[in-house]
Amino acid sequence: MSKGFLLVLSGPSGSGKGTVGKALMEKRSDIMFSVSVTTRKPRAGEENGKNYYFVSEKVFEEMVKDNKFLEYALVHNNYYGTPKDFVYEQIEKGEIVLLEIDVQGALQIKRNCKDAVFIFLLPPTMDELKNRIVKRGTESEEDINTRFENAFKELDFVGEYDFFVVNDKIEKAVEDIEAIIHAEKLRVKRQKDIKQKIISLGGIIHE
Ligand code: 5GP
Repeated sequence: MSKGFLLVLSGPSGSGKGTVGKALMEKRSDIMFSVSVTTRKPRAGEENGKNYYFVSEKVFEEMVKDNKFLEYALVHNNYYGTPKDFVYEQIEKGEIVLLEIDVQGALQIKRNCKDAVFIFLLPPTMDELKNRIVKRGTESEEDINTRFENAFKELDFVGEYDFFVVNDKIEKAVEDIEAIIHAEKLRVKRQKDIKQKIISLGGIIHE
């Protein structure tokens, strides 16, 4: 068995992180989704504890003070953070933990977690990105413009990531991410007791 690791998925609003992440989770049982904490109001259909933990700014600030976050950031005028305990517990158990977070959060993780894997999800075109945000119909016109402007700023950070995946077709994007996971699981540094494994399996590592 390989060791657990963090899989960080970023990309601008409208790149399809949520949809691709969900499709990936449905396909695989070895990935645990890290539910973030946010001060954003829930959208129609979103559930507390499933999509996010929705909290007030006061509660969020207390969590920051109590050092509860692996990373946190102000994104599109709301706070978002990754709860630290859940992530550490899952990694310890050997799970892959999926974080769908923005670039500011990803850069914080990059500084603190050397073994994490960073994937940047891109839309096929920027026009398509705007179409998707508008079509979603969950944001006000002001929010749509903020998200679109932020998308261009986020693109400046693609170079900080290990991989980029273009989300034209969801199935293809999921396949690309699975290929990345497959290769990452084969990394020598991610094996537990590799020498023992080679000896007992006659030289073949197979999962
Ligand atoms: P949304 O409001 O559309 O659900 O998310 C807005 C942005 O916040 C997205 O880019 C999403 O990836 C990011 N985000 C969600 N959770 C977290 C988190 O825990 N930390 C950070 N840094 N960003 C997050």
